[in-house]
Amino acid sequence: MYVHRWSDGTPVKLPVGKVVCIGRNYAEHAQELNNPVPDNPILFIKPASAITAFSKELSLHAYLGEHHYEAELALLVGETITRDTVSPLQCIEGMGLALDLTLRALQSELKAKGHPWERAKAFDRSCPLTGFVRKTPQSKENYEYRFWQNGELKQHGQSSMMLFNLEKLLGEISDYFTLEPGDVVLTGTPKGVGALRHNDRLTLQLGENTPFEAKVNLE
Ligand code: ZN
Repeated sequence: MYVHRWSDGTPVKLPVGKVVCIGRNYAEHAQELNNPVPDNPILFIKPASAITAFSKELSLHAYLGEHHYEAELALLVGETITRDTVSPLQCIEGMGLALDLTLRALQSELKAKGHPWERAKAFDRSCPLTGFVRKTPQSKENYEYRFWQNGELKQHGQSSMMLFNLEKLLGEISDYFTLEPGDVVLTGTPKGVGALRHNDRLTLQLGENTPFEAKVNLE
């Protein structure tokens, strides 16, 4: 069963909660999918049951169809954040990386019909998470991360390129959804999204920290 872990593999003493995700937080990614740049962050939720570990063998449910990756900076909530929280960044206890896996064809279909995205975004194993670095983000710092597929750099994100910064995102989210200890926030994906294939070797690296590797099983 999945538990949150620190980057050295030791378990985090927090429950596993929901994942609140941001859509279209990087202008160049919105453009690559022909989406308008939003005035407000787009929010959606993956349940705790969607989380799986980004580790050696990443087994996905092939029957669901083509999975697209979106590499994203992930924030681990350590203390409750409500709309009254004055310094929400102070309530973040760890930073890691995630893949916001998406059934893109199905999402396009649902979007066209004006239906919710859950089937395409919140399905089982749709949220592989790396271990977390023990860290509380600082609003002025730039956090960088990279994603490689079979050794080829596919995505390079920087928090300084986000349309809505981390503080703003936590404020917007907590206006609607209380964030509880063990919840995770995914902060949107930069350009370069694409499909996963069976046997892909994936690498995620936050800053200069030790990279995480996984091999995709889509059979
Ligand atoms: Zn995403």
